[in-house]
Amino acid sequence: MAELLSLAEAQARVLERVTPLPAETVPIAEAAGRVVAEDARAAVDLPPFPSSAMDGFALRAGDTPGRLPVVARIAAGVPAPRPLDAGEAMAIATGGVVPDGADAVVPIEYVVEHDNEVEIPEAAAQADNIRPRGGDVRAGEVVVAAGARLGPAQIAALAASGLDRVVTARRPRVAVLSTGTELRRPGEPLGPGEVYEANGVLLATALASAGADLEVLPTAPDDELSHRAALERALEADVLVTSGGVSVGQHDLVRRILGELGVEEVFWGVAVKPGKPLAFGVRGATLVFGLPGNPVSSLVGCELFVRPALLALQGASTPGPVFAEGRLAAGVRRNAHRDEFLRARTRASDDGLVLEPVTGQESHMIVRAATADALVLAPRGEGELAAGETVRYLSLA
Ligand code: AMP
Ligand code: MG
Repeated sequence: MAELLSLAEAQARVLERVTPLPAETVPIAEAAGRVVAEDARAAVDLPPFPSSAMDGFALRAGDTPGRLPVVARIAAGVPAPRPLDAGEAMAIATGGVVPDGADAVVPIEYVVEHDNEVEIPEAAAQADNIRPRGGDVRAGEVVVAAGARLGPAQIAALAASGLDRVVTARRPRVAVLSTGTELRRPGEPLGPGEVYEANGVLLATALASAGADLEVLPTAPDDELSHRAALERALEADVLVTSGGVSVGQHDLVRRILGELGVEEVFWGVAVKPGKPLAFGVRGATLVFGLPGNPVSSLVGCELFVRPALLALQGASTPGPVFAEGRLAAGVRRNAHRDEFLRARTRASDDGLVLEPVTGQESHMIVRAATADALVLAPRGEGELAAGETVRYLSLA
């Protein structure tokens, strides 16, 4: 095995090879999870007019306390028939247009209503319960900045500011290829020596949530012809992710055949556990990740390298991986040579988040890993990390 790169160095070498994808304009309803490519600016002031924050009565603060005639009733979406004069009140709904001449709204809970009059027992202050025009954003100001990813709040912000389309990065086309003669599809009977194929759905699920436009290829058995045909086709994507066949066995063909197909290997071997024999290369603008076949190794490699690369391709300002902090529930031994990612369950406690490593930390144990919601980083080194120690983790939720 070549000299192992540190995790940070390997991650930097991947990001160096990323060329951001071109932008395209999409309807906001189709933009969930995409990364904004050009600052999106408000088409209108928001709110577009001074609006009432409460169901109540629009009036002049100077007329309170007092008893005022109710001269109009203003529903949301239907402005007042005329400006408000001194000594008057107008009933108003939440979101209604505050009439010219009024400078406060008194909530209905604080008044006593008579037939066509309203009694205001307490003094109101100017601007009470009025949302000023442009108080959230002004026309032309940035609503969502380039590099931000669009979740529900961001998409709602675009809609509320009058934008029906947004300029985003094109979604990366990602080909996923599992390799291994022993792999069977779930639902088929298992023959001797066979196991069910899990990495295809693992990678597809993980990468869909990173914005991938996916093509999951049929599993390639460990022979040259199958590998060559599948890899040739898969290299047309923006990103190719393979699993299996990157170790040192006689049947590990992926790296050699990628090389024959013109892929320049940037590195092979990272000082992480699991996932050490991970390979990364490029052909033109296509990024190629060869993940080791054990499912937990594929999961960890995907989170550490492939997800950030996809987000960087889309121009995300923070491609990650994003670590959070918590405290270990139990002591763990460190690996002297490799940063280790332990599968753990998070639990809230009175003094912060606690991380409980699950039993069964071997890289084939995907069922044990499935009981976890975090990957805890145990940095390489001597000795152990003690219970209670603060550590960094990646969320799998
Ligand atoms: P490899 O990296 O090809 O040497 O595979 C390492 C281990 O992971 C072997 O036990 C494989 O059977 C298993 N494996 C490889 N690919 C998959 C996959 N797609 N799904 C489940 N297990 C796999
Ligand atoms: Mg294999």
